[in-house]
Amino acid sequence: MPLTRRSLLTGAALAAGAAALAKPVQAGAPVAKMQGPGAYRYKLGSYQITALYDGTWFVPIDDKFVHNASGGEVNQALTAAFLPPRVLPVSFTALLVNTGAKLILIDTGTAGQLTDTAGVMLDNLKVAGVTPDDVDQIVISHFHPDHIDGIKTKDGAKVFANAEIWVPEPEWKFWMDDGNMSRYAGNAVVHKYFLNARRIFADIAKDVHRFTPGAEVAPGIVSIPAYGHTPGHTAFSVHSANKSLLAMSDTAREPWLFVRHPQWQPSYDMDGPLAAQRRVHMLDVAAADRMLVEAYHFPFPACGHIVRRGGGYDLEPAMWAPL
Ligand SMILES: [Zn+2]
Repeated sequence: MPLTRRSLLTGAALAAGAAALAKPVQAGAPVAKMQGPGAYRYKLGSYQITALYDGTWFVPIDDKFVHNASGGEVNQALTAAFLPPRVLPVSFTALLVNTGAKLILIDTGTAGQLTDTAGVMLDNLKVAGVTPDDVDQIVISHFHPDHIDGIKTKDGAKVFANAEIWVPEPEWKFWMDDGNMSRYAGNAVVHKYFLNARRIFADIAKDVHRFTPGAEVAPGIVSIPAYGHTPGHTAFSVHSANKSLLAMSDTAREPWLFVRHPQWQPSYDMDGPLAAQRRVHMLDVAAADRMLVEAYHFPFPACGHIVRRGGGYDLEPAMWAPL
């Protein structure tokens, strides 16, 4: 019999039927309600990188989600990736860099404040053998809630008691400005981001270090201006012993849509044309230089390589591998 989907299903049904006839059903193992831990380590020169999964938010999207592509085109791209249409799976992965002398966390997860299906970054940090008190430095890419909410608990307590917090200066300038906040009073979603930035930063403002993108923010971690997604959105390159990793932050996001179609401008990019320009440029450099890349919203463990394919690019995910 040729191998078809139908023959496979029929075969499985026959096998199940035969098994049921052969012996009474035994009490089986309970079906687990939780996924296994999401902490994945890899080596970068003498540094150790740990990808820390925080969860996935399944966001319903409408036909206006991408300004310069139709709902049909977007749904076709999702379907081509074997994903359901009209739902965007937004995966969150924070990055822990162990330099040997310092533990640096780039972005901090959702702290369970956005959706029930995300907020496990701290559990995975524990699996990685690190307590929040061990973290020396937090570096933030931009002020969207999924990147900064992990700095505090819902009750406003600092989660990483001993960590210095470093943020991009242009991001601070934009989101902490009351004039900008009132200009966005009519945009409920973005207005909430302004309030949330104040919730996280207002009472710790004097302790927050602000860096100019382009600067080295920690040993071997250089910030890269990647404005467009937000006014001060920042990517990073991590270097150790001749090896490097490009941490793209939200420059490319969900690969099935915005790596394959880098010109598409999603509604969450505040300056769509500028973000698309930065995205194409960064993907082009990553592909040409065969760079190891990582991005906050790539599927876990959120690292791999970028290749040119079709009219756009594609992500070749890294393989789960022993150390
Ligand atoms: Zn994000």
